[in-house]
Amino acid sequence: MTAQTLRSVPLIPGPAPYLPAIPGPSIPLLESLRGTRSIYVEFYDPGGQRFGLPTYPYRDAPGGWLTRRQLRARGLRPGGQPPAGQVLWRHRGKRRVAYLYLESLALPVRPMTPAMWRSHAAAMCARMTCPVCGTWRPYCIPVSRGMCNDCDAGSAP
Ligand SMILES: [Zn+2]
Repeated sequence: MTAQTLRSVPLIPGPAPYLPAIPGPSIPLLESLRGTRSIYVEFYDPGGQRFGLPTYPYRDAPGGWLTRRQLRARGLRPGGQPPAGQVLWRHRGKRRVAYLYLESLALPVRPMTPAMWRSHAAAMCARMTCPVCGTWRPYCIPVSRGMCNDCDAGSAP
């Protein structure tokens, strides 16, 4: 087998997708815009020929195709399924990606065990303790400042 016989697959960071890509549903409005110069169709590739995965623009994913966050809002998790597609958009000149999972294959989120709650509480407590003065505050220490409001006020010029 030579290198030429290997199918070139774009390297996609993140979880391993189905390969070859299984085409996703088409979006009628976006189909009608194909061939036009609308930037709206730049990230429309339901067959995955251009981007390696079925790709949809921001806000136009097919019904039942959800991001991890959207699954979470419904009490679901991907459950080990590879991403079926992706949403691409541009933010501050950079290409951003969100992977899409099939709601039909998603599983309910695991309920929190007592150990998970303990770990969560410890993490929250650490986030609410100022690393400068060591005082526990009733709010999370802003990561951008790295200190509590009092310390920040004291160090201000
Ligand atoms: Zn402090």
